[in-house]
Amino acid sequence: MKFHILTLFPDMVEGGLHTSILGRAAADGHISLEAVNIRDFTVNKHKKVDDYPYGGGAGMLMKAQPVYDAYRYIEEKISEEGRKPPRVIYVTPQGSVFNQQMAQELAGEEDLVFLCGHYEGIDERVLETIVTDYISIGDYVLTGGELPSMVMIDAISRLVPGVLKNKESAEFESFHNNLLEYPQYTRPEIWREKPVPEVLLSGDHARVDQWRLQQSEARTRKRRPDLYEVYAREPKALSWLLKSKIDHMDMIEVIRAGQADILCGDEEGVLLKDVPSGAIMVSASDEDMGERLLSLIPRGLKDGLFVAHQEFLKDSICRRFDAGIVNACVQAAYTRKTLLEEDSRFCIRPLTISFLEEVYSHYHTVHDKEYLEGRIRSGRMYGAFVEETLAGFIGMHAECSMGMLEVFEPFRRQGIGEALERHLINRILKEGRVPFCQIFTDNEASVKLQQKLGLRIGRQTVYWVS
Ligand code: SAM
Repeated sequence: MKFHILTLFPDMVEGGLHTSILGRAAADGHISLEAVNIRDFTVNKHKKVDDYPYGGGAGMLMKAQPVYDAYRYIEEKISEEGRKPPRVIYVTPQGSVFNQQMAQELAGEEDLVFLCGHYEGIDERVLETIVTDYISIGDYVLTGGELPSMVMIDAISRLVPGVLKNKESAEFESFHNNLLEYPQYTRPEIWREKPVPEVLLSGDHARVDQWRLQQSEARTRKRRPDLYEVYAREPKALSWLLKSKIDHMDMIEVIRAGQADILCGDEEGVLLKDVPSGAIMVSASDEDMGERLLSLIPRGLKDGLFVAHQEFLKDSICRRFDAGIVNACVQAAYTRKTLLEEDSRFCIRPLTISFLEEVYSHYHTVHDKEYLEGRIRSGRMYGAFVEETLAGFIGMHAECSMGMLEVFEPFRRQGIGEALERHLINRILKEGRVPFCQIFTDNEASVKLQQKLGLRIGRQTVYWVS
């Protein structure tokens, strides 16, 4: 991850971020930090970067020209190095309030530009030209954007793979699963007559886990009732989804993977957003419930991607959001725990980014190169090789389903597709997850393959609407 910070105070940012864990992460090459001094780009001979606001009012404003030129300098460098245009975050009290989920989402980017304001802010015209995200760190006003940028960079960096040495420490702490972390203790066993809770000395891991979960729940309910309300939606949502498990495996799995933002979880219907893909998934017992759920989605939503689990929801989504493209699928899930026997004739391994062009030119369903690049970079695309030649591939979509299966022409009808799927099923099982896929309703060959591999086929049609 490469952070680029547009600031009037580069020393403050670099000094603050090049210490401790982030300093080590930068030295190890997991992240890089570049502070670009906006003042270096002013064309004003006195190096002035601010001026009076039109219309009067207190304070000064940062001028558009030096901010724009400093941004262009970063953008050109990124483009010369062959990467896509970056997201540009203006840290401002007028933005959406930063949280752990945003940190998680931003940690998947390759480059991030932070724009730090000062004085009364920045000329609106340059913000309109370059900014993609407006983010605040809380409802209070600071003197400049450097501290907010540093706060965000710190939170994002620790989610970048390799930055924290112990993978668990990012997985089981506050906000994971919408709970605050449980209380913790270290030596001595008794401090000022206060003993460590007995259960933590018991050596019984199951009891320790149970105690910690209870403590997390109690603490969240007391200190953050707003967060607890979100946490409590999950069991309700699952109680509806598990009523027809195979047909809801997509929603169940994104919840289990901790990547669902459950917007409404009710015993008669569920509305959630899969955070990595942005897809909005919905299932309801009847039309009234469906309308109630869909009314929670802002009407003006553009570029929406929806997964409707009932036909009436599909129709209503098309009307509400002026959506037209519909793909009808059925779900198939491997609900057993036993690993499948693998085909040793082919070498199957994760694909590296050098295969992007080959994957892109052979994959016919998705024409979004950026998406395929993201999948390869996440380590979730696997290739089958015949004498070191790529013969086909399979992958895991951002919303956890298996897919993107292709076998190239001279290698078809040799069992490579089946071998790829067997391999991916085993990988997913070893992660303790349920392998599942979605099949176009007219793809009989795929249904047959899924049945042969032991996947159970759902009964309902699932509609992808965009
Ligand atoms: N006049 C601006 C307003 O009312 O929204 C506030 C300007 S503030 C004094 C100067 C700069 O500090 C802002 O441009 C922004 O970059 C940064 N800043 C201040 N408070 C912030 C917050 N809560 N979150 C993120 N950035 C903040």
